Amino acid sequence: MRRFLIAIDFDGTITQHDTLHLIVDRYGDRSVWDRLTPDVMAGRVSVEEAMQAEFATVRATPGQVLDLVRAEAGIRDGFVSFVEWARGAGHEVHVLSNGFRTVIEDTLSRAGLGDLAFCSHDAEFSEDGTRLIWADRGERCELCNRPCKRFDLAGLHTGLPVAYIGDGVSDRCVCGAADVVFARAELADWLQDAGRRFIAFESFDHVRDALTRIAEVAAR
Ligand SMILES: [Mg+2]
Ligand SMILES: [Zn+2]
Repeated sequence: MRRFLIAIDFDGTITQHDTLHLIVDRYGDRSVWDRLTPDVMAGRVSVEEAMQAEFATVRATPGQVLDLVRAEAGIRDGFVSFVEWARGAGHEVHVLSNGFRTVIEDTLSRAGLGDLAFCSHDAEFSEDGTRLIWADRGERCELCNRPCKRFDLAGLHTGLPVAYIGDGVSDRCVCGAADVVFARAELADWLQDAGRRFIAFESFDHVRDALTRIAEVAAR
């Protein structure tokens, strides 16, 4: 069987609900993002600047944020057994996120997967407003002009073909570097419109079944 590097987005992929949205909706002001969207689209404000402006309105302790995520984010069906299966089958599994270390660490360890490797940004949550701490993703990506998950993916150096699993805007560029793409929600719509190949999924059981077939065929 062919082995893969399985790279998985976190928010809205591993979790059922995007934790950044949950956090801003509960403790911050969502209208900041909406107000800045035209400037982001026009390139006057970077996505990172808009995110920092949005999260500056988030006034909460780390404990409040984790309580919210534990109660409401949810883990997508089949995720934990998917990781166990993938490891058992010899695949490498890595999480690539545009979200926050504090939240990801807590979620994975509560799911019994505290040893799963991930790349992400981080946030310093406070009642005085939240400060984002950006991961070093090197120079801006020459394809999307952003600090991009492609940098994290390239840094893994596994030499294995890549299966990428994601749902959103932060997955668009990096999934172009994957051999197989599993997509749902906004990412699936975008790939569809772009005429690009992907496999639609809603549960990780579906991903496991499809990847099992692909790995077998590739090994023939
Ligand atoms: Mg996502
Ligand atoms: Zn990029």
